[in-house]
Amino acid sequence: MATRAAARIAAVAAGAAFANALPAVTCLRAVRRWTPRLAGRGDPGHVALTFDDGPDATGTALFLDVLDDLGCRATFFLLGDQLRRRPALARRMVAAGHEVAVHGWLHQNGLLARPGRVPAGIARTVRLIEDVCGVRPVWYRPPHGALSAEGLAGARACGLRPVLWTAWGKDWTGRATPATILATLRPDLAGGATLLLHDSDVTAAPGAWQATLDALPAIVRACRSGGLAVGPLRDHRIHPRLRRLPDTSMLGRNPVG
Ligand SMILES: [Zn+2]
Repeated sequence: MATRAAARIAAVAAGAAFANALPAVTCLRAVRRWTPRLAGRGDPGHVALTFDDGPDATGTALFLDVLDDLGCRATFFLLGDQLRRRPALARRMVAAGHEVAVHGWLHQNGLLARPGRVPAGIARTVRLIEDVCGVRPVWYRPPHGALSAEGLAGARACGLRPVLWTAWGKDWTGRATPATILATLRPDLAGGATLLLHDSDVTAAPGAWQATLDALPAIVRACRSGGLAVGPLRDHRIHPRLRRLPDTSMLGRNPVG
């Protein structure tokens, strides 16, 4: 009996772990295709430009300069621990018309964090953004795209909408160049896309953001030359209902290049 009870407890524990793990598969491309709202699929005439992991001591200011030159606004998913060190950069983002959003306090995988850490980090980051920037964030993107059940609940408790991405440039590696970033993005560079890039190297190879910075004008030009506007998630009109935005209407529409 003791063995059977122990087995049952183990099964329940495994089930609980699985229930928490299940949403984490949203980081997988195939799954995100079935959850376009979560992936950030939006207006077919618009591409959402997003940057994660900042503010960065060196990179972020340069991105803000280039975005200004391009006349382009973006959404920055901030880490609370970075924001705490560099509040002036976040204030500059908001003053320039960019959108600031929540990436978490630390860059922790939601599946590996101790219970309670992720929701606490989300709430703490929301409060800091409000204190520093005077705005209330709307979006939450979990580090690594690993949206745990606890992270989802924590985001909702703060009134945040979780959003991932539909295209990335794999710009966090030391081997990334502007050419590889563009080539990686290009198959998914279409109307309604949400692009994941990084203005920070706090979780990437040192200086990895330089290739992203150098690629940025070409990325924006590629979208615009395809007739697509580029801007923050607030202008992306992510549709509230999955069934009204079927997958087939999103992939391959308005392909660029
Ligand atoms: Zn990140």
